[in-house]
Amino acid sequence: MSGQDWQEGLRPETLAIRAGIHRTAEQEHSEPIFPTSSFVFQSAEEAAARFAGRSPGNIYARFTNPTVRTFEERLAALEGAEAGLATASGMAACLTTFMGLLQAGDHIIASRSIFGTTVQLLSNILGRFGVETSFVALADPTAWAAALRPNTRMLFLETPSNPLTEIGDIRALADLAHGHGAWLVVDNCFCTPALQRPLALGADLVLHSATKYLDGQGRTLGGAICGSAEMLTGPRSFVRTAGPSLSPFNAWVQLKGLETLSLRMERHCQNAQALAEWLEARPEVARVYYPGLASHPQRALAAAQQRLPGGILSFDVRGGQAAAWRFVNGLRLLSLTANLGDTKSTVTHPASTTHSRVSPEARAAAGIGDGLLRISVGLEHIDDLRDDLLRGFAAMAVP
Ligand SMILES: *Cc1c(COP(=O)(O)O)cnc(C)c1O
Repeated sequence: MSGQDWQEGLRPETLAIRAGIHRTAEQEHSEPIFPTSSFVFQSAEEAAARFAGRSPGNIYARFTNPTVRTFEERLAALEGAEAGLATASGMAACLTTFMGLLQAGDHIIASRSIFGTTVQLLSNILGRFGVETSFVALADPTAWAAALRPNTRMLFLETPSNPLTEIGDIRALADLAHGHGAWLVVDNCFCTPALQRPLALGADLVLHSATKYLDGQGRTLGGAICGSAEMLTGPRSFVRTAGPSLSPFNAWVQLKGLETLSLRMERHCQNAQALAEWLEARPEVARVYYPGLASHPQRALAAAQQRLPGGILSFDVRGGQAAAWRFVNGLRLLSLTANLGDTKSTVTHPASTTHSRVSPEARAAAGIGDGLLRISVGLEHIDDLRDDLLRGFAAMAVP
């Protein structure tokens, strides 16, 4: 199993289990963890050649580590990418992408509905170093086109968006970016490659928070970037120099997570679809946001670029924040926590938590009402999930 030729033509479910394995002389079956910070050279000549880049091989774990490499190769295979680069967290993947590819004077256009911390990173940190970002409405292609400037180097989005599950047209935005000599970068955290492969739709780079569905069980922090080896040159050199490297243990947990990714995503989606349809029929619910519903305004686009609609849904309860909080406080099973992409179902009230730093006016403009709740639907039995939501509705009814 030398090289990657044997991988050719294998399907994603197989690659998720087999890609990236480099068996050692011990002939282990399961992927080993290499908890070592440095690697030994056979001679002074070899050390010099390694440092000069003339001989391939490990030097120091801030640059490369065999367990981390297995995770990178496996995720890249799933995304249909030539190469992968692991980072210490999803935010480190974002930072590494910006620092590895941009310089002062460059301009980014980003969807307004990206992860809140990514908004802070772009506005409050990159802004201080001379990289400016314009934020536009994800689903409005004319807004993206209107925001283009001569120095626009990157378009950045997540789809479906959090928490309202709006869909960005990856192919259309890739064409827009390329027509302008810019890159399209997609944070694929919500779909994972099991549901959506942005590179095949024209994106230049895919980012991940491996903390979410890739680990899948809420244990570790991690992140990754996938794309061509050439595009990853700058980001790779940034990780090597600045040090946001993934730990071998976290890489190992996440690569074991990848083995069951497609199975888990199918059940997340199946449970989410059932809950979305059930919630839509409830009198306490004003509106459900889920790309698998006939009522979703971009259902056709979601179906065209995603294999399944995803594991995250949101809904507006009637009665605003007071009703939403009574609902949440009435639950016994769902966890009240900001994490998502876990086997455990989690619930959040965005207006008072993840989006509380956004002004009430901006929140209202973005459609994030006081009665909005987001559920990351887990892998529990669907009847137990419904029973718990019924407890929430019962608590909502008694002020
Ligand atoms: C959680 C998340 C991130 C950040 O990932 P961390 O691993 O928490 O640093 C980035 N993007 C999206 C869409 C996320 O959900």
